[in-house]
Amino acid sequence: MVERVKIPACKGPAGHTGLDGSRWYGMIGAWEIQGFVICDACYHDLVAWSQLRRYFTTTPTIKSDEGSWTCDAAVPLIKEGLRRATTSPNLWDDLHLLFRRRMEYSSCMEMKNLQARSTHWYGSKAVPDLIVCTTCYLDHFVLDHARSWELLSLTAEKQQQQLDCAMHTVQIYSAWVACKRVSIAENTDEYDGFEDLARIILKSPPCSTEDMRNATWYTPQDCTGDAFAICKRCVLAFMVGPGFATEFKEVNFRRNGNWVCDLNPATPRFLKYLAKYEAAVKRENFSIFSEFVSEYAPLPDLLETRRMADYKEIIHSSHFTFLVGEDQTPLTIYTAVVQNNSDPLYALISNGHMKESNTGNAALEDVEVETFMGFCEYAYTGAYVTPDRTLSQDDEGRHLGHEPASSSPDPNGLFHAKLYVFATKYLIEPLRKQCLIFIHRDLCSFSLKRESTPVILDLLDFTYAHSGRGEPGGKSLLRDLVIHYAAREARTLADDLDVSALVD
Ligand SMILES: [Zn+2]
Ligand SMILES: [Zn+2]
Ligand SMILES: [Zn+2]
Repeated sequence: MVERVKIPACKGPAGHTGLDGSRWYGMIGAWEIQGFVICDACYHDLVAWSQLRRYFTTTPTIKSDEGSWTCDAAVPLIKEGLRRATTSPNLWDDLHLLFRRRMEYSSCMEMKNLQARSTHWYGSKAVPDLIVCTTCYLDHFVLDHARSWELLSLTAEKQQQQLDCAMHTVQIYSAWVACKRVSIAENTDEYDGFEDLARIILKSPPCSTEDMRNATWYTPQDCTGDAFAICKRCVLAFMVGPGFATEFKEVNFRRNGNWVCDLNPATPRFLKYLAKYEAAVKRENFSIFSEFVSEYAPLPDLLETRRMADYKEIIHSSHFTFLVGEDQTPLTIYTAVVQNNSDPLYALISNGHMKESNTGNAALEDVEVETFMGFCEYAYTGAYVTPDRTLSQDDEGRHLGHEPASSSPDPNGLFHAKLYVFATKYLIEPLRKQCLIFIHRDLCSFSLKRESTPVILDLLDFTYAHSGRGEPGGKSLLRDLVIHYAAREARTLADDLDVSALVD
């Protein structure tokens, strides 16, 4: 018997690739469904101890090909169905039929841009414009609300056209998540609330990246200016469910004629705002969101290079807390964000700590809080901001404040270098490149004076202590860059006594 704690966590939709020796279980005999497999973790959590065992194989299949295998117990319908079947054995036959049906349909994402006839569609009886694909109907509605929906019969002409699944839009999906959250927290049925909300959301103008000049805009009550504004549809979708709608006021939104809603998934800061919104909802504290918005929205955009993570994956993923630095400061991040960015960090979360996969933590003692925050910021937005830097007293008491890295007049090379070392260790290649670009740019625009040599010497010192030939490519790009700079400025640096000790 394998100890549960040693089994890797379910990777969900991300799946397993390569010959990783993972163990998988399928159903047996008459119950077998073509292609249906669940991972070792889900087998142990749902099947091994329960009456479901009789429907499943007891010996695992070891993954023996290079392809990608995903755990079907991570499919919402199947996850919830298996959970229910463990406590109500008489539901099994009906649930098994639904599982079989669900396995015939592709994900909602894959339905996008296809002709309507590629799948079947369900319409809400109460809200005629609310139409979902069969996958979403099975995943989110069939178990408790089947009677509120009907299978649509489309005309031959409609079959040729494209239909968009309502659950594929972030607004309807978020409204559903918000209502579901309320019903779980208060043990009530918020399904009617969802229908009402969906009705008014669909009646409001769409949140689009094109021509929104006639839209009505809203901003948090305590926000000044128009650095942050969201459209009516997004107020309805995100703010009504958790009770935040009254915290908003109408605003005259101009922002250089660039009318894009800040909660539109196409905007670069969407994930960052979403993360704060999620935190505010979880802790039932709107100020977590509004304070962040007031502070962050007026800052200029950094790099526009950002990978669009799937918001569904993020919303659904759990949090994980790292205990960072010598003081073990707890810093929390979405597991899906870690998974998207760093395999080694994700391994820390998913191996050996899985018993507490929702509340778990791992220590990163050799990382500073500031460095980890830089990583988090990068992971959510694709760029990071140089943190506050208090200069020493002889710097005339100046304080750089929250200056974006891209325009910092005075380099904080050490911060970038620490982040570089972190990115190297945890194999976050794009972040590593970004750090080098910032260091290079800062050094180029930095005029070296006698008073400022300590800044560079600290950087040299750190670089020598923490970079090495073990880096990918066999040499340290950071070391090369800093040495190159030091060589150019050798004369000024050499005036400082410390330097000879270093260069020897
Ligand atoms: Zn699983
Ligand atoms: Zn769908
Ligand atoms: Zn919007």
